[in-house]
Amino acid sequence: MKKYTVKDYKSKTKPIWCPGCGNYGILNAIYRALEQLQIPTHKIGIISGIGCAGRLPGYMGTYGFNGLHGRVLPVATGAKMANLDNTIIAVGGDGDGYSIGAGHIGHAARKNIDITYIVSDNGIYGLTKGQASPTTPLGIPTKTTYYGNIGATFNPIRTLIAYKASFVARIFSADIKHSTDIIAKAITHRGFSFVEVLSPCVTFRGKDQYDYFREKSFYIPESYDPSNEVNAFDYANDEDVFELGIIYKKSRPTYDEALEEVRIKAKKDGVPSKLGLLNNFEV
Ligand code: SF4
Repeated sequence: MKKYTVKDYKSKTKPIWCPGCGNYGILNAIYRALEQLQIPTHKIGIISGIGCAGRLPGYMGTYGFNGLHGRVLPVATGAKMANLDNTIIAVGGDGDGYSIGAGHIGHAARKNIDITYIVSDNGIYGLTKGQASPTTPLGIPTKTTYYGNIGATFNPIRTLIAYKASFVARIFSADIKHSTDIIAKAITHRGFSFVEVLSPCVTFRGKDQYDYFREKSFYIPESYDPSNEVNAFDYANDEDVFELGIIYKKSRPTYDEALEEVRIKAKKDGVPSKLGLLNNFEV
């Protein structure tokens, strides 16, 4: 049987992110997590929207799709539901996912679609050259907030727990070992797994963003029970620090499992013929 190595998961295209960009760490962690899990390259789909992180599928030696701005999750959902055997990983930035694509996150999470969504969060629009994003901290000057950001900062961890995501984690792109471990766990989780990545944009937030993330983050202790929603909200509500690790995790039926139950019930009850559908309609 073929043994997959990091090389197999790489494409021939070299990344063109700015030197020092956090996206390099995310890409490397994804390569390593896939190698660890030994998932065949032809069984993987990496889906993205638009933005610097949206370039990521092009650097993978797997199937990939670079879609429209903010529409990563509908495409990823379709790819998964079309072939449940495949591993689908959606990637994007904070602008793509938490702004224009924000309406999709709640539904992918509450339906528990069995995909992994990795968000490279640098608190800025990088590709369009430095406008404030939903996670830009209050008071930070950007191209669109000359006197400092005046909008409250979006809290993705709190939001995803509230949306009933069954796996919610945070990692820091500079720690590739820890990121690899958490991404591997997110991929093997049955259901919607969400991974928020502290990922510096050295060009529009400056190299200091590495120090800022390092100073504010801490690793969740091993004794922590991620199935406790109240504790998870306590962590999420503390906006002075960034907890790294699995913040919330609880198993529940995935969308495809629940749908299969509906199919079986409908077939047993003869619903297709009651609805006047063709006798040989396969449910
Ligand atoms: Fe990375 Fe920022 Fe450069 Fe985009 S603009 S590639 S996010 S450092």
